Amino acid sequence: FRLEIVRAAHLPAETLDGHQIKVKANIELLEEVPVILEHGAEGVGLFRTEFLYLNRSTPPGEEELYQVYREVVERLAPFPVTIRTLDIGGDKLARGIHHPRETNPALGLRSIRLCLKEPEIFRSQLRAILRASLYGRLRIMFPMVSGLQELLEAKALLAEVIEELRSEGINIPSIPIGAMIEVPTAVAIADILAQEVDFFSIGTNDLIQYSLAIDRVNEHVAHLYEPLHPGILRMIKQVTEVGHEAGIEVGMCGEMAGELLYVPLLLGLGLDELSMNALSIPRVKKLIRCLKVSECQELAREILKLATPEAIKELLLQRLPKIL
Ligand code: PEP
Ligand code: MG
Repeated sequence: FRLEIVRAAHLPAETLDGHQIKVKANIELLEEVPVILEHGAEGVGLFRTEFLYLNRSTPPGEEELYQVYREVVERLAPFPVTIRTLDIGGDKLARGIHHPRETNPALGLRSIRLCLKEPEIFRSQLRAILRASLYGRLRIMFPMVSGLQELLEAKALLAEVIEELRSEGINIPSIPIGAMIEVPTAVAIADILAQEVDFFSIGTNDLIQYSLAIDRVNEHVAHLYEPLHPGILRMIKQVTEVGHEAGIEVGMCGEMAGELLYVPLLLGLGLDELSMNALSIPRVKKLIRCLKVSECQELAREILKLATPEAIKELLLQRLPKIL
């Protein structure tokens, strides 16, 4: 039975009423590429690029990063690879980067904030990403965007680097730019951010942490970490609606996207793309092929009327098609 699912992994994730959902993989390492392709990934929806910066005394140089990004992009072609710029700081510290001592690292100098404060590190990563983009389909995504200014600064730096490469004789084709939606204020101003990017990707791991004020790595409050909180579901809906009004695609790349139980709801909430751990892909694609988006939308409407995660979970369990 399991073999049958893996064999079917390469069929497209098309619903019974003809909607194509993009099912992609989250990766951290080049070595994962064969595994995600075997499992039917239609691209990389989240390439976490922190790994190469950890456990070493100086940050990797442009050339080293370029070689890795280029190989991932080449091996994935014709599928796209979404490279997330450095999301370091918080609980991921690199010896080669100066991290201040912080009382609340999750609320501290991390991710895009750190990159904007250390433009030389950011620049060399952007140069490597842009150079790799010549070898396949690449999208670039900025993490932890909390306001318009950060996004504009990151885009301005990217434009500078593109110009710099051009002056060196390397012409970069236009590359889709995305923002991760994982800070509550990004949800609230999604309409404004949508004017500046080509796609959104909802990072539920952090969005849940910051919205519910639950540290995602603190075991004492882990039981309160709740993807089905009605407040979280409303936020997801708001982001897909606003994104679609602006004509951009909205994906999800947090752990929530790979949970079978949530998939019908996520389709009903309007997500165009789900990016997940490779092992979840075959089953998620199989489930999608048994669903109708119109019915998922009806389910989402019912769920959005419910007040508690418990009631929502019960309804989802009742409705999950008995096919897997
Ligand atoms: C997220 O926050 O949901 C996410 C995908 O990013 P990370 O887990 O790397 O913070
Ligand atoms: Mg995150």
